[in-house]
Order: sequence, then C-alpha cells, then structure tokens
Amino acid sequence: MKRTPPVSGTQWANEHYRLASGSSQDEGAWVTLPFQVAILNMMCNRSIRRLAFQKSARIGWSKMLVAAVSCLLHQFKTNTVIYQPTDDDAKGFCIDEIDGAWEEMPIIRRIFPYLNARDQNNTTKKKVGLGWILDILGAATPKNMRRITKAALFGDEVDGWDWELGKEGDPISLARTRLDGAAFPMERWGTTPTNAGESHIEKLMAEMELTFRFYLPCPHCGHEQVLEWGSDETKHGFKWDNKQPSIEKKAKTAHYRCIECEQAIYYRDLLKMEKAGRWMAEDFTWTKDGLEFFDIDNQPVSTPVSVGIHCWAAYNTTMTDGWVGLVREYLTKKNDPAKLKTFVNLILGQLWEGENGDKLDWEQLKARREIWWAGDRKQNPVPDRAVVLTGGIDTQDDRIEMFIWAWGAGEECWLVDHIVRVGDLSSQVLKDTVGKELNNTYKKRNGAEMDVQLWCWDAMGHKTDDVYEMSRKHGVLRVIPIQGENQYGKPIQNFPRKKNSKKVYLTRLGTDGIKQRLYSRLCLTPNGNEPVPGCVHFPMDDAIAGDEFFKQLCSANKKLEHSKSGRQMWRWIKQYHPYDEALDGWNYAYAALNILIQKFGLVLQEPEPVQQKKSSGLSIAELAARLKGG
Ligand SMILES: [Zn+2]
Repeated sequence: MKRTPPVSGTQWANEHYRLASGSSQDEGAWVTLPFQVAILNMMCNRSIRRLAFQKSARIGWSKMLVAAVSCLLHQFKTNTVIYQPTDDDAKGFCIDEIDGAWEEMPIIRRIFPYLNARDQNNTTKKKVGLGWILDILGAATPKNMRRITKAALFGDEVDGWDWELGKEGDPISLARTRLDGAAFPMERWGTTPTNAGESHIEKLMAEMELTFRFYLPCPHCGHEQVLEWGSDETKHGFKWDNKQPSIEKKAKTAHYRCIECEQAIYYRDLLKMEKAGRWMAEDFTWTKDGLEFFDIDNQPVSTPVSVGIHCWAAYNTTMTDGWVGLVREYLTKKNDPAKLKTFVNLILGQLWEGENGDKLDWEQLKARREIWWAGDRKQNPVPDRAVVLTGGIDTQDDRIEMFIWAWGAGEECWLVDHIVRVGDLSSQVLKDTVGKELNNTYKKRNGAEMDVQLWCWDAMGHKTDDVYEMSRKHGVLRVIPIQGENQYGKPIQNFPRKKNSKKVYLTRLGTDGIKQRLYSRLCLTPNGNEPVPGCVHFPMDDAIAGDEFFKQLCSANKKLEHSKSGRQMWRWIKQYHPYDEALDGWNYAYAALNILIQKFGLVLQEPEPVQQKKSSGLSIAELAARLKGG
C-alpha cells in the first residue's frame, strides 16, 4: 500500500466517508457542511489532546464521530475506544452507525479484513483491524473501564453517564486512565447537555483552555456574531410575529435579528454567512478550519492543547423547515417546563438552569397535591408503588424535624410523614422521643407495612456528638450522620469505607447537586397513577404539607458567582424564606436513598402487584452484608 501523507479530517471524510444505506434520509456520500469543517478537523487533529463538544441534536455529531474514528484508524492506526452511556447503547451505536457506514466504505475493506465476517475480531464490542483495535463499550459497567490501553478515547453522550460508578468514582476520570502511556493521547467528549450542576460536559467545558463558537458576519452590516436564541428582552436573537393567530402562522415569520444593526436575517442567508464564518474563543483566538489558529492580531499561533466547542441546531443549513421549524417547536413547548427543558437541552444545546433564575412558585406546587390513600391518610400514607422509605433529619437548637419519603421506580417519590419534636437534642428526653420515631412503621393501601430503611441526620454544628450517639445507639448502618458541602461537582453522597474515630459512618453530601436535582424534578407534573420517573408527589394534607412546608421547599435559589480563578459558577443561596428544613429534609432523604442504591445494592423496581404482608425489600442486615469494608 502506497503511503500518502495524512490529510485533514474533513478532506478524509469527503473522500472516503459514506453514510449507512437506509439508516438516514441523506444516505450516500458524505459532504462536510461549512459549520462541520472546523469541528471535524479538530476532532482528528492530533495536536489537540482534549476536546469537549457541548452540542444540540441535529448537527450530525454521531456521523462526525464515526468519520473521525475511521479517519484515525486508517491514517494513524490509532487504537481507539468509544464509550457510550450503557452496553446497550454501545451495541446499538455499533450496529446503526459503524457497521452500516463501514459496509459502504471501500477504504475500510483495506484496513479491516474481517468486515462482513462473523468472527471474534468483528463483534459489536470489538473490531480488530490491520494494526489497530477499536472497542465500543458502555460507560456504566466499571469492568469496561479497566485493562485496555488506548491512544484515542471518544466519550459519547456523557451527560447520560452516571455521576459516579459506586466506589470506582467518576467515570470520566476512570475512562481517562485508558490513555496512560499513549504517545498522542486524544480525548473527545460530546453530548447534548442536561442540568446545570449535574452535567459532565459542564465540568469538561470548564476544564478546556479555550471555548470556540461559530461567528457569522451579518449580511447587512458585516458584524460577526454567534447565533443565540435570545428572548423578549434581547433585541437580537430569533424573532417572530406574535400577533399572528396560530403557532404555524407565527412560526412562518421566523427570522434572526442582528445584534448590531437589528435588521432581519433569514434562513436562506445562512449558508453564505457560514462560508464566511470563523470560530472564535474567549481570548479572540480564531480558526476557520480547525487546523490553523490565529490570535487577535491575525498572527499564527500554535494549536491549543484543549478546546471546548459549542454549536447548536440553528447552524444546520440542511433542515427541511429551517428556522421556522425551530420557532414552531419552541412555541409548542414553551409553556410546559418539562418540554421546555427538552428544547433547551436538545435544540439549543444549553444546560437547563432549573427555574431559570425565577423563584419556584410554592403556591403552584401546593396546588398539585394528591390523594393516594384510602380514608384516613395516617392509616395508609405509603403509595402502593413505593419500594423503600428513607428519612432525613434536620437538627435545630430547639427542635428536631424528621421528613419521611417513599421512593419507587425511577426515583419517583412521595412525602409520607413530617414529625417535629421540640426540645434540645442534648437532653435525654428528646433523644428517647426521637429514638422511638426512628422505628415508626407506615402502611401501604394494600396493607403492606414498611419501616424506614435508612436515616440521614444532619450532624453539623454543635449537636454533632449527640447525633453520633444516636447513630451508635440506633444502628451505625441505619442512622447515618451527615455533613453537607455546598459545592458543585461534589458527589451526592460520599459514604466512607470506614467508621471515623467516633465509630460512626460520617458521610459528606454534595448539597448543591442534590438541590439542583430536586429543583429540576419539581418541574415534573404527576400524571394520575401513571409512573413519572423523578416526579415528586405531595399529599393533600395541611398537617404535613401546608403553606410553610412549600415555602421552605422553595426557599433556595441560584446565584451566579465568580470563583477565585474567575470562572463563573452557580451557587445555591437561601433567598426567599428564612427557613429551609423541608428542603434539607428531602436532600437528606435523597442522600439516604443514594447510599442504599450505591453502597447497599438496592434496586428500585416497580413492586409486584400482589398482596404482601411485609414488603420492605432487603433487611438492613442483608443490605449491610453487601457493604464492603468498614
Ligand atoms: Zn447587522
């Protein structure tokens, strides 16, 4: 085989890459679109070690990923691993995206003799070619993260990855160890983002030295700008005529308004603008093709070692309905928070900021309280679909507040009880009273009785020793003292392998991440008895879910702050209500659930619909037996 000098990713793809027949509406030869050129070249550029791509749907990421991997295999024999969120995703990706495309590509036959062969060298997990190996694996399986050494690592849909893999830790760091020892290590991360505060891509983008966005010159005034959705308050961005009578008619008027001259730009102008566009970073480093980089004075600079890229659907020049389609989609989704979140994540490629800076409306939450029991709530406060009960305990100087939550499949949850006991925890009287409440049992409507499997108890402040004492007395694996850490990126819970010097399992919680999770889940509305994963249910009972409860639950809000290094970050602050026990109660109960799942192997599955006497799943002794260490 004659050796030819390597070409750029785009040149390679335009010459060799084909799309799977039948799998896509635009099957056949691949032509890299103007907005894809720099992205694909950067993905294949071996001088760029780290690349994070925060993207929307509909910009051809999966196709570019396969093109980049194929290009590296052919030109550099780069040993590569592609991680998808799960093993099933990996298998599907291999069959739909890789196998289908490779069959259409003559170049692959020359480097991969087993193409089309039923052979152990050509499976959905592993392809062994001439001088290279490609693995396609799920990131949720820790053993997939071990043993293999690679030169290139592609992490796909990373915001669908677990936040941590049990005691193995953060899957991103784990995947990175695959590159140890490689001469030209390359990592490429891409995903549509999820929620701010619990997003891998948010962290990855912040790690990169530069973030590139695509600047397009206005056809009227020439001003270079990135496309932004905008809002009623911004003069620029996507606009439409709201006076039109229907969504369809409004959408038909869709256009972009220039940030400089405020003139209307139409979808038909887009292709020409992109051909003249350039990618620019915060410090005005720019590139047109992802190969040559220049500084603000247009002097050549070396290739950055790590880059972030943001690009979204509005840049796609091949959408059937163009910008009209985007505006139509927005108008049909904007009034439903869950649908709006999908739009923000999938179409805008933006992190969902939960309440988007507005305070959560406690009255709205209260208005959707439900009844899931028969007759007197206290006789059967647990819904039949619950799998486990956990409790969160808030310690105050003059009282103890206990919140008991039921959890079902998909982490759907229901408030079961709220107990307030007044007094000082250092007194034996209060210790005895609370001790009794720890052993409460609660019934389902079908008669099954459940106890609270795990308690997380706030051990901050000067009652620490009393909480430790209660933990030792009522079971160190049943009453877990906790301390919150208000910092993004901290894991939900960090249950230790060993007891501390006071003989308790003091556990640290990442409370900012938990709050973010609760607040994005509060946007989910219940749907009768249908499962709604993540949904938070409140009982129609003023005694435990009255005005004060909801005000406390909605007491926090996020604020943009700047860290010492100048990086922007969201912090949770108490803002709207002086008390926040209800919010902490959910946080602690949720942390308890996470300990049960991650450390004790609890699985949240829909319970069998049969009548049972006792349905609390595994006993604590059985769960504890699964705990390693300590
Ligand atoms: Zn303009």
